[in-house]
Amino acid sequence: MKLQVGARTDVGRVRQGNEDSYMVHDPLYAVADGMGGHQGGEVASKIALETLGRLTLEPSGDTAPSLVDAVRQANRDVLEKAATDPGLHGMGTTLTALVTGGERVLLAHVGDSRAYLMRDGRMDQLTEDHTVVEGLVREGRLTPQEAEIHPQRSILTRALGVDGDIDVDETTHDVRPGDRILLCSDGLTGMVSEQEIQRIMAELDDPQRAAEALVNAANDAGGQDNITAVVLDVLEDDETADTSPVAAEAVPAEAPAEEAWSAEEPPRRRRWGLRLALWVLIPVVLVVGALAAAKLLFVDRQWYVGVEGERVAIFRGIPAEPLGIELDSVVQETDIPAAEISRFADYRGVREGITAESREEAESIVAEMERVLAEQEARERRQEQREEQQDGGGGGGGNP
Ligand code: MN
Repeated sequence: MKLQVGARTDVGRVRQGNEDSYMVHDPLYAVADGMGGHQGGEVASKIALETLGRLTLEPSGDTAPSLVDAVRQANRDVLEKAATDPGLHGMGTTLTALVTGGERVLLAHVGDSRAYLMRDGRMDQLTEDHTVVEGLVREGRLTPQEAEIHPQRSILTRALGVDGDIDVDETTHDVRPGDRILLCSDGLTGMVSEQEIQRIMAELDDPQRAAEALVNAANDAGGQDNITAVVLDVLEDDETADTSPVAAEAVPAEAPAEEAWSAEEPPRRRRWGLRLALWVLIPVVLVVGALAAAKLLFVDRQWYVGVEGERVAIFRGIPAEPLGIELDSVVQETDIPAAEISRFADYRGVREGITAESREEAESIVAEMERVLAEQEARERRQEQREEQQDGGGGGGGNP
């Protein structure tokens, strides 16, 4: 199978670092979205892709592991690294990986990055998000439209780096020339609607330009998260791709490595003038009026658990500050350090705000956070004691 590839990753407009990673190395294509304090997220997504690449592309002897086994090994490698470095404790990553062969592609998937297949103008999602919100959609308790904008949509139910055992979704798909596949992180799908993604995918023939346009669209919509898009076009076998075969450095051959990985500062600055006009000056009157009405109608009735001064707090209002107007206020502070709690996959979204139906529910979320942290502390204390005992070993008998 011949492919033409485009890929782009970008830090977005809010985050400090880029925790997304991607790999583009025929026949393996993958996207990983890392999470965790300090450098954790970056390290987790890179380790996962390194392991996957090593096992899939350079199998030793004739015992090449299946793609799913390679993902399981990647999971163990992330866990092991986290256990040896306290600074990386609690890191994790999503992983959506694709291997081509014959007329088919094999997909392995954990987390909320996504794969889409576009054929004859129609776009279908090939993966299922492993998130709390997606579970509610499957149970019929949320509509897909509600899920798309739900503030808890990034809370994962599965990720690499959480547990030694991991469930990996594995699917195979027949593909044919003319098909286009998209692998992307939730920094794209969280900011840009599926209709808009489909429109961009249909409009731009060149996969590299399509990948860049998708990333730009997410940034234009706010760029709240790191954004990654890998676009794969299936070619006729005798068709020649415009790009040479993909480089080993896991970046698209067409773009120089630096450009593919860096955050593209200059174009962003150039776009600022236009943004100001479009997003601030023109709608400002409309928005202020709408906000006043909205605040009266529903903002004051919303609750969420968020972060104030690096500590978890309960807020009334909604976790957004359009045009710098505060729509929320702290009603209760806690001693829970935001950095600690956001290492847990369940509370990864705390900085964006975890919504609650009522003050009672917000309080119970906080109580659960306290319980989880206390458990973790106890585990660490037990571990330390064990290590001390082992260290003490033979010399321990002489205690006064
Ligand atoms: Mn993300």
